[in-house]
Amino acid sequence: MQKKTKISLKNYNSFGVDVLSSNFNIVNSEKEIVSFINKKSRLNEPIILGGGTNILFKKNVDRNILKIKIKGIELIKETKDYVIISVGAGEVWNDLVNWTINNDFGGLENLSLIPGNVGGAPIQNIGAYGVELKDTFKNCRTISIKNGSLRIFKNSECNFSYRSSIFKEKLKNKYIISYVTFKLSKRNHKINCSYKPLREAIKSNNILNPTIKNISELVCKIRSIKLPDPKLIGNCGSFFKNPVIKKFDYEKLCEKEKDIPFYIISKKKVKIPAAWLIEKCGYKGIRNGNTGTYNKHALIIVNYGNASGNEIFKFSQKIKKTVLRKFNILLEEEVNIIEN
Ligand SMILES: Cc1cc2nc3c(=O)[nH]c(=O)nc-3n(C[C@H](O)[C@H](O)[C@H](O)COP(=O)(O)OP(=O)(O)OC[C@H]3O[C@@H](n4cnc5c(N)ncnc54)[C@H](O)[C@@H]3O)c2cc1C
Repeated sequence: MQKKTKISLKNYNSFGVDVLSSNFNIVNSEKEIVSFINKKSRLNEPIILGGGTNILFKKNVDRNILKIKIKGIELIKETKDYVIISVGAGEVWNDLVNWTINNDFGGLENLSLIPGNVGGAPIQNIGAYGVELKDTFKNCRTISIKNGSLRIFKNSECNFSYRSSIFKEKLKNKYIISYVTFKLSKRNHKINCSYKPLREAIKSNNILNPTIKNISELVCKIRSIKLPDPKLIGNCGSFFKNPVIKKFDYEKLCEKEKDIPFYIISKKKVKIPAAWLIEKCGYKGIRNGNTGTYNKHALIIVNYGNASGNEIFKFSQKIKKTVLRKFNILLEEEVNIIEN
């Protein structure tokens, strides 16, 4: 275990917010996590850090930070149809995706180029282009923050839903994910082109029978055009979730605002793109001091260089209030806000 005091977190969060951590600990194994927990006071709940691509530090952090660096990809089981692999929480998510593509293991291709680490992925059940982590997730190994005991969560126990899981809700900050196990196809891959931009890209590239490699490459291409690279401009991807509202409320809104885009969730519920709501409030591509929204995507709040965490947070709340006033819809943060 490595311990650092008074270090800047600028390179540890994709917003690039320059805050100080007075207790920064890097752990490379389950054993190191357990020994950390056994030494610390139970009241001093640590902040768990993966790739820092979905986290906003509002100010300097006094609490212990536990940066998870457990590495390794292990083949647990192989049949002629599928493989089961166990992956260390500290592996970079996109390196894992590339490894699966190179081995022709199917299931993660639509999730190409999502930033962050493997251990952070189940927290909000990462999703993109019609696929979610839960579709291939088998289980995860975790360590209890309270007493260091080991617990395995099966897929059915994780309460996965849109950008959420039990680890973001009922068991928030209660368990540290050390390994994630996936079940991936070895043949007859299920190619998912349900997402319109992906379908259009396949068509315009004249691909008749897309392979998982084709899908991964196209997803990377679309994402690179649409999303800002955090290495160039600080951001955490979507700041808010797309709100799910009652169909009845949606129809009422349509009386005032025609053509509100929506996706049907169930007979009684629809999902509305938060980016559309924010754009309608005049917030697309605007700059507010050192922060603002990305010019190609209103849902992405960016750091133009020297924004403080609090400045980004205040700006996000301004957007939230404006959307509430105009549409009577309360946006919910997708990014995890760290108060202190
Ligand atoms: C440009 C950009 C595009 C993005 N696109 C998408 C997208 O398409 N779809 C999507 O779903 N997300 C997207 N994201 C958000 C982000 O990439 C994911 O949420 C990612 O899974 C976060 O992983 P992380 O390791 O960086 O987590 P962190 O930011 O380090 O942490 C996020 C949360 O998880 C907790 N956590 C992290 N690791 C562990 C662990 N091992 N055990 C327990 N808790 C842990 C943290 O305490 C925190 O609450 C995007 C982000 C960026 C910057």
